[in-house]
Amino acid sequence: MTVLSNKVAIVTGASSGIGRAAAALFASEGARVVVTARRQAEIDGLAAEIAAAGGEALAIAGDIRDEALAQRLVEAATKRFGGLDIAFNNAGTVGEMGPIAEMSPDSWREILETNLTSAFLGAKYQVPALQARGGGSLIFTSSFVGYTAGLAGMSAYAASKAGQIGLVKALAAELGSQRIRVNALLPGGTDTPASVTNAPGSGPEVLAFVESLHALKRLARPQEIAKAALFLASDAASFVTGTAFLADGGVSIQRG
Ligand code: NAP
Repeated sequence: MTVLSNKVAIVTGASSGIGRAAAALFASEGARVVVTARRQAEIDGLAAEIAAAGGEALAIAGDIRDEALAQRLVEAATKRFGGLDIAFNNAGTVGEMGPIAEMSPDSWREILETNLTSAFLGAKYQVPALQARGGGSLIFTSSFVGYTAGLAGMSAYAASKAGQIGLVKALAAELGSQRIRVNALLPGGTDTPASVTNAPGSGPEVLAFVESLHALKRLARPQEIAKAALFLASDAASFVTGTAFLADGGVSIQRG
């Protein structure tokens, strides 16, 4: 018996990193998954991989800032798979980094829209589908940045990720009586294309520094964060709601 048998899940940011690993893990645990990101070829490849492993996936490409995409994903889950039980709202961007005085309003808006407004849009269409099902689990990938740590040059990112935690608390209160659980997942440094350790020009000294910030002295693999998402998605977390759930290798408790 797999832990997500008979469940239907949406996974955003599924073309890469944490989202890709989570979609594959959810499918291997029995969920039928709707996967999305802008890069069609990557999500088509993921859907083919899931199908080859005996799972079921539907790939729908689009921009997470687009309200029509949020609606289309839920409609597709309902039409193709009969409903929706889980949404892992994971797509995100670090965006432009730098001193606040040098940040353009356009960069600020892009980061807030990609990380925070997309979370609102996702929930707006996902919640009625979960209500129709009589319950479910919403998960948003936030970050320790903006919650337990303030990192210079990351003001827009931190504000967007902290904003998600506020959204999660309000939704958890709003929806708990309807058996809908809502949680933020806060990864520590994770070895994905979005990590500063993989930014162009970032050398071994950057990796060593970021690793040293974590109590475990290493980055996470995307599969390790996917397992935390699986926990929050599954009935194993049946009494877990409204949390900022850290899976951060101890970066939040490490001080020198
Ligand atoms: P990643 O490998 O770069 O994945 C980011 C995903 O988001 C990609 O699938 C990307 O797909 C999608 N995405 C970005 N902008 C989008 C847009 N406008 N429309 C649709 N999809 C969009 O990075 P990751 O580390 O797995 O990031 C996943 C989440 O974890 C993010 O929310 C990130 O902030 C968070 N996080 C990461 C770390 C870390 O150290 N890696 C730590 C804490 C939190 P396309 O480019 O194909 O659209």
